[in-house]
Amino acid sequence: MEGGGAGPQGIGWDMPPASRAISAGSRQAVDQTSSSGGQLSLDEAPFRVISKLALNRRTVAVRLAPLEAELHFQAGQYVLLADLQGEVEPQSYSVANVARPGGELDLVVTVMPGGQASQWVHQRLAVGDKVQVSGPYGNFVRGSVDGGPTLYLAGGVGLAPILALLEEALSSAQSAPLRLILSARTKADVIFRSQLLGWQARHSNFRFIRTLTRASGEPPLGRLPAQLPQLLGSLAEESVFAAGPEGFVDGCAEAVRQLGASPRRIHTEAFFLEPQPWGGRLV
Ligand SMILES: Cc1cc2nc3c(=O)[nH]c(=O)nc-3n(C[C@H](O)[C@H](O)[C@H](O)COP(=O)(O)OP(=O)(O)OC[C@H]3O[C@@H](n4cnc5c(N)ncnc54)[C@H](O)[C@@H]3O)c2cc1C
Repeated sequence: MEGGGAGPQGIGWDMPPASRAISAGSRQAVDQTSSSGGQLSLDEAPFRVISKLALNRRTVAVRLAPLEAELHFQAGQYVLLADLQGEVEPQSYSVANVARPGGELDLVVTVMPGGQASQWVHQRLAVGDKVQVSGPYGNFVRGSVDGGPTLYLAGGVGLAPILALLEEALSSAQSAPLRLILSARTKADVIFRSQLLGWQARHSNFRFIRTLTRASGEPPLGRLPAQLPQLLGSLAEESVFAAGPEGFVDGCAEAVRQLGASPRRIHTEAFFLEPQPWGGRLV
């Protein structure tokens, strides 16, 4: 039940710079300035769930449509999601699509055992429900230094912001090589596989590789940071975007630095437990 064949125009299931402090509980948005220097609007608005799809046993994709104002965001940014009743603490979820006419947002949520917000999304949130969305936050966005060859490294649901960045890059006129390496536990955890294979078939500059950490089968297998030297050559010319659990992105950032990637071209988005006083780190 994963991505179908829709082009870089959107995720194929049927169915918004350096941020400053935001308190998860307060739902207060603060002004922020993009890394490219432009002002980004920050907002809090009600949205309605218009579709919800199980991608596997642990992950659902939820599509939200604005009930009032649209949220203006850049590919790669995240929002805070909460219920309207104030019973669920707002949590950060990356927007997995580029801005669309109509302002829909695609969120991809992996359930955390005992996790309040992710269990709410999985177990209680239904099509037709209203939710509160605020943001956008984060600087995990294509900056002015990017646009050349790019390597995307995703750990599990860290694929969400990378889908948006890829959709943006594949929709542009750029022909520089784009490579995605997705690290998943098992084959069933390779979310959006058809979508990614479809992009690879249609875009000669895009290559998709998956690695499995908890399964036997076709290589490559094993943990991604350790695999990188075997999978990649020199990264001296490459921009790198890595998203997922903190240990994953830190390990990847270190590995790509050792392969020659310039620190100013390494972008990371670590899925911390709470929104941090920064949106993403340039390491
Ligand atoms: C910038 C950013 C973007 C994010 N984007 C996404 C996204 O696109 N999709 C997505 O599924 N999640 C994403 N997350 C993680 C998400 O915000 C929540 O942390 C996650 O859904 C768990 O929230 P919860 O309320 O269910 O768990 P909580 O009630 O906060 O915690 C429940 C239990 O799970 C553990 N736990 C909670 N979060 C994590 C975590 N991230 N890693 C390891 N253990 C954890 C806690 O230690 C606790 O034991 C993102 C986080 C950040 C900071």
